[in-house]
Amino acid sequence: MVSSPVTLIKPGLLIDGLGGAPQTGAAIVLKENLIHWIGPTEEIETNRELKNLVDSSGQHGLLELPQCTLLPGLIDCHSHTNMPGDGRTGEEVAKDTDDVRLMRAARNTTLALQSGVTTLCDCGSWNHTAFSLKEGIDLGLVPGPRLMVSGPPVTSTGGHLWFMGGEADGVDGVRKQVRYLIKQGADIIKIAASGGSTLTSDPYRPSYGGEELKTIVFEAHNRARPVAAHCRSTVAINNALDAGVDMIFHCFFSEPDGSYRFDQATADRLAQTGTWLNPTHALGNRRRVELLEMKENGPLDKVDAAMLERIVTGHRDRIEAYSKMVKMGAKLIGGSDCGWGSYPFGDFQDEIISMSDFGLSPMESIMTGTRNAAQAIGKLDSLGTIEPKKEADLLLVEGNPVDQIESLRGVTAVILGGRLVRDSPALRN
Ligand SMILES: [Zn+2]
Repeated sequence: MVSSPVTLIKPGLLIDGLGGAPQTGAAIVLKENLIHWIGPTEEIETNRELKNLVDSSGQHGLLELPQCTLLPGLIDCHSHTNMPGDGRTGEEVAKDTDDVRLMRAARNTTLALQSGVTTLCDCGSWNHTAFSLKEGIDLGLVPGPRLMVSGPPVTSTGGHLWFMGGEADGVDGVRKQVRYLIKQGADIIKIAASGGSTLTSDPYRPSYGGEELKTIVFEAHNRARPVAAHCRSTVAINNALDAGVDMIFHCFFSEPDGSYRFDQATADRLAQTGTWLNPTHALGNRRRVELLEMKENGPLDKVDAAMLERIVTGHRDRIEAYSKMVKMGAKLIGGSDCGWGSYPFGDFQDEIISMSDFGLSPMESIMTGTRNAAQAIGKLDSLGTIEPKKEADLLLVEGNPVDQIESLRGVTAVILGGRLVRDSPALRN
């Protein structure tokens, strides 16, 4: 079955990722790495070409799983494979060697694949590690999903994530840096358009001027690379929109003094341009839950208490802002930001599930981590939905995620390019 060139899958339910209701009685035929056919199960008996094809593979090419839902493999637009996701900060991981970071990245990508992520974007790693990781996966040295890597984010001197090795200033500086990243193999360009948690940066202020941002986006688009901008400031969001970025990560409305103020004019622009927004909601929520649990076991120290207050407020503000923007028609994508903070690899589902806080239905939430994500990274022609001629990147989960979205975590099988890369006892019965 593992290397069978033809596989017939008969799931209980099928979610093709195009937005319609889940289908019953559907079957799908995979040939080599591609989806060959999808349709009603009984048609296989009446369609001679199809029947011959399926018969040629025999019983070991059959996956009959009436208790499962088949859906497109998940696409996580935002992760940091070098990072441990155990609460350590960027500054702390900056003390590791690239060798250790690369080994951690290999482990993390394996965890992602096993959990159902068949395409993963690494949007910020140290030096050359993400390019090496991608090479290692392509060579089959470690199992991993399809990888889209940015290498070190393009950042101003001392800006967010500067320690990863991507500092560049001025129009000439950023132009050269983007070209250099693409030379090394960058599939995507990540910009730290505002500061962030990095100690020498200011999260509430933009880190680049308009001309620098426009140059970065021009150079990236000129080489057909999508651009993602980290923005935790309203001014930075507007700068990123002026430059024409494809994706905005976090997209938090903050004033230079750190206060939250929903900005209607900016929200209008975000909705009207259809820029893809990645809330990274589950990441913030994890630390909130962690601190609330700590508080139950005894009083928090000053630092943690202040942090909890900030996070609780941020959580509430984010829900308010994103709920309004969703109503206005803003388009969301799933990006876990895992590796960062206290969010380890292997549960991208948490980010997808958390979209319900903004009023998304389970089906809409699933699409943030499948079809929408594929479109945002420029891969909708080959990934993101279950349609003939697309890559056979698939996920089988127990139950019906449209009834109960948590069942996305009950992974029975993961298929990458037509190959079964995660087995489970349910398949051997
Ligand atoms: Zn990030």
